[in-house]
Amino acid sequence: MDIPLTINSLHKDLKEKKYSLVELIDSYLQRIKSFDKEINSFITISDDYAFKKAKELDSSLKELGKDAFQKYPLLGAVVAHKDLFLTKGIRTTAASNVLKSYIPAYSGTVVKKLEKAGAIVIGKTNCDAWAHGASGENSDFGYSRNPWNKEYVPGGSSSGSACSVASNFSMFATGTDTGGSVRQPANLTGVVGFKPTYGAVSRYGVIAMASSLDSVGHFTRVVEDSKKIFEITRGEDGKDSTVKNNNFPKPNGKLRIGIPKEYFIEGIEKEVSEEVKRSAKVFENEGIELKEISLPNTKYAISVYYIIQPAEVSSNLSRFDGIRYGNSRNSFGDEAKRRIMLGTYVLSAGYYDAYYLKATKVRIKIIEDFEKAFKEVDAIIAPVSPTPAFKIGEKASDPLKMYLADIFTVAANIAGIPGLAIPSSFNKKELPLGFQLLGPKFSEETLFFLGEKFEKATSYKPKVAKL
Ligand code: GLN
Repeated sequence: MDIPLTINSLHKDLKEKKYSLVELIDSYLQRIKSFDKEINSFITISDDYAFKKAKELDSSLKELGKDAFQKYPLLGAVVAHKDLFLTKGIRTTAASNVLKSYIPAYSGTVVKKLEKAGAIVIGKTNCDAWAHGASGENSDFGYSRNPWNKEYVPGGSSSGSACSVASNFSMFATGTDTGGSVRQPANLTGVVGFKPTYGAVSRYGVIAMASSLDSVGHFTRVVEDSKKIFEITRGEDGKDSTVKNNNFPKPNGKLRIGIPKEYFIEGIEKEVSEEVKRSAKVFENEGIELKEISLPNTKYAISVYYIIQPAEVSSNLSRFDGIRYGNSRNSFGDEAKRRIMLGTYVLSAGYYDAYYLKATKVRIKIIEDFEKAFKEVDAIIAPVSPTPAFKIGEKASDPLKMYLADIFTVAANIAGIPGLAIPSSFNKKELPLGFQLLGPKFSEETLFFLGEKFEKATSYKPKVAKL
């Protein structure tokens, strides 16, 4: 059987009784078995759980008929969770040896909400340990390979989630985006990556990286599915005090998209910037006004991020003391140790004012840049990664080089605004290219609207890598 590529096509197949969910799970597992040895998307496969769920949902379908799709809006949609999402009874490692045999006693809010909506968990995906990285190479479970060209990285830190969707090992996948970890791997593997507004989706039951920057997003093949999943995951759960039941206004009137001049600088590869400009033209042809804007403090974003983020990392990782759960702190890898040391340094007496406090002040400047820009435009179009996927090993030994790859993604986390990474084409090496749309807080509806408009205008068809 052909595994469907979108939730819509899955539901059409199920209505026509083309296959059962048990058969669907079987096809996914066969595909994973045949191809994931090389790609390494998964740390844990939850086959028993998936079959059990599939059986239950097959019965509901029989019993309720078409009403089952009302009750379960994501009925049968197979999801792979980044291994930072706690899943009751299913091992959750954060891709670190510290937690290599940790089995959570409860599931996080997003995991629960998706389950309630009828999604089926197929496994837990590989990532940079503790979500520290931009290539997937910091995983203690081996790196993942980019399914479009296996010599290249898939991006990170949510490397396995991106690979899983691009390889058709799952219908969608979850990820965390603290500085770009959903948008960047989506961009490098040719799938749609969504980062919500800070405070739109609960972080409860997701292993924390840097708490003022963390957001819980997802990967899909089309914008429509991203929107559907966000409708399920968003909203208050009483367990994350930053999340309220916010309003997400629908776009209205003539929309304007800003092109920030600071995002088209030296160091960005020409094919990347040209592709973003070409995509901007697509919007212009659809009647959307383009406007050059300025975000003058962009140049400080990486420095601010690499002070605030390790500071929060050093605090969050202190709970892994080897006493309550997991292995001892000796099991931390080099990158986690590096961030704990950097973070402890910028927070220590004498350096706090010079680094941490100053960074929080510059953070306000970056937020103000966006506020000013969003008075003039409804959304911003920008590159995601300054280069297409890079070779495995190319940056692994040079942390600074790796950190610089985050240049266009971290500002959205610093400002807490939403972002949507959209694939648009492939370069000569058959590696994916794309762009991101950023909007003011809680402007998700506008981003999805624009994303769908782009897909329609370009007759975009969801693609899966040949493995
Ligand atoms: N590449 C960034 C980092 O290493 C992003 C991480 C993330 O978003 N989880 O910090």
